[in-house]
Amino acid sequence: MPDRPSKPSPISVPPPASSSERMMPSVPPSSFELPPDAITLKGIAGSPGVAVGPALVLGDLRASFVRRHVHTAQIPQEMERIRIAVDAAKRSLREVSDRMPAAMRDASPILEAYQLMLEDPALHDLVDKKVKGEKKCAEWAVSEASEEIVGMFGATDGTERDTYILERRHDIEFVCDRLLRSLVGSDAPHTVRLDEPMIVVARDLSPADTASMVREPALAFVTCVGTRTSHTSIMARALEIPAVVGVGNALESIRTGDLLVVDGLTGTVTVHPTERNVNDAKQRSEQHLAFARRLLSARHKPCVTADGVSVALKANVELPAEAILAVDHGAQGIGLYRTEFLYIDRTTQPGEDEQYEVYRAIVEAVSPQPVTLRTFDIGGDKFASTFQMPSEMNPALGLRAVRLALRQPEVFLTQLRAMVRASAHGDVRIMIPMVASVHEMREVKRLVAQAVEQVKARGCAFEEHIPLGMMIEVPAAAIMADVFAREAEFFSIGTNDLVQYSLAIDRGSQSLAALASPFDPSILRLIKFVCEAGEKFKRPVSLCGAMASDPLAACLLVGLGLRDLSMEAAAIPEIKEAIRRLTVAECEAVAAQALTCDSADAVEEVLAREIAPRVIDLLAGLADDASVTLTRSSIPPDVSER
Ligand code: PEP
Ligand code: MG
Repeated sequence: MPDRPSKPSPISVPPPASSSERMMPSVPPSSFELPPDAITLKGIAGSPGVAVGPALVLGDLRASFVRRHVHTAQIPQEMERIRIAVDAAKRSLREVSDRMPAAMRDASPILEAYQLMLEDPALHDLVDKKVKGEKKCAEWAVSEASEEIVGMFGATDGTERDTYILERRHDIEFVCDRLLRSLVGSDAPHTVRLDEPMIVVARDLSPADTASMVREPALAFVTCVGTRTSHTSIMARALEIPAVVGVGNALESIRTGDLLVVDGLTGTVTVHPTERNVNDAKQRSEQHLAFARRLLSARHKPCVTADGVSVALKANVELPAEAILAVDHGAQGIGLYRTEFLYIDRTTQPGEDEQYEVYRAIVEAVSPQPVTLRTFDIGGDKFASTFQMPSEMNPALGLRAVRLALRQPEVFLTQLRAMVRASAHGDVRIMIPMVASVHEMREVKRLVAQAVEQVKARGCAFEEHIPLGMMIEVPAAAIMADVFAREAEFFSIGTNDLVQYSLAIDRGSQSLAALASPFDPSILRLIKFVCEAGEKFKRPVSLCGAMASDPLAACLLVGLGLRDLSMEAAAIPEIKEAIRRLTVAECEAVAAQALTCDSADAVEEVLAREIAPRVIDLLAGLADDASVTLTRSSIPPDVSER
């Protein structure tokens, strides 16, 4: 539900004197119900796959309380709760009105009208009947009263009265929502409780919300904000749940229970799909699954280019359970374990033993392959409530990752000790996120040495030499890669942040998502420079940004010199297939052309011309489908993000 009137046209609000009438329909109820029209919403393809199912709108209060009957003795108490909630809702509307800037004062009559609607006898009669007569709890009574009044308006039928009906419905829903908010408390966090398989729709999903879907699997999810590199998309891909993000109008257009088709291949969501839409979606879903199965069956083939050069493909994991998934998809180790997920969605910080057990389980699951444990990258869009964080204007440019770790050395040391102990069980590497200065790496080295001493003093087992590397995701680190080669034993290029910081585009901004391209020539030059520095100073270089999971980008990266890529496990079979189809010389020729381009679009044209025809089936994500004739460059920018 919107938390402000979605259509606040003063003209649409009848005079306060007739407020009781306005709760009643001024248009006779429809005697027949037309099926609602299918609407297609456009977003960004966050995670591939196609799903059909009912929506569960988080933040939709109607779906978030328990419908319970009350005893006769409790009825006065429920009535009192409603009275208090009405007062609170009116107060909050009054506060909004008082705080309104002068320029928006024209809208204050609407808020006054809403306050009057909260007292409307038609609404109260209905609510009273439900509590006193049907013994329903306050929330249930308000929610049902709202639905019944809205229902009296009948269905929209494509005529000019639609606008009027929609506005009245919005008014009623808004007012009842305000009342429900007062009853249940508007600050209730998202609790994803899926009693049946549903498509989760929300304004945004925090990493904690998404992680909870491991326990309560969703069919798909749709968010109003987000881009392909935002954490909701990364998590969805890791969980292999189709997702469409950046659907700005999702909450206005979708209600809990609406049937949806979510197409994570094209970045579209169809609300109230027709039978034909549903059949098409089911067919596309089958084709996508067939495609994924076919690729998966080849997972144990080596990842070598057509001329036999090996490229290591590793997995990015956020949750320990994904380590098994990584092995199943043929990963040659874990190239990035985002340990910050251990700190999220809890009230206390994870202790050393708890962390050690998690790291050890991951290391043992993939042994003898290596595991790169990245120290916590908290801050920016990854917020953990157990850290005392200052409120900053630009969290992405603030106290994040290694900066936070160095400010909280005890917390950092706890994590480092757990990592050092895990090294006794396999090939562990430690990686530091968001390093921007050599001073930071030197401080980190000092703390790692301290952690080793502490573990040694306790007599715990550990590996004497644990490689210590760093992410290259801040332009300063990329430009100084030759200098950092003295401080770090390996580099991993994080293009998600490198793009954000180099192009000065928030990685969560969907309005600029199409411009935040890893194909921007500036990014390709930085990658090339880091690869050259790595080669010169004998420092292994890998790349673990979302770019690595795009078949065209992966071939380009091989051409730029990378021989080690890390991505969500589900993408590994597809990327392996793409790499197996081209020779290094072909990739290098494409990279050479790309480096001379003056824009990301020009680079995409080169890729569409030179590589796309060879991997066209992989780009569509479908087996045996006519849509494979699409070329990447013919797909609109936000859709081509997949
Ligand atoms: C990156 O920035 O590319 C990266 C892999 O790190 P994260 O997405 O966790 O910020
Ligand atoms: Mg990063």
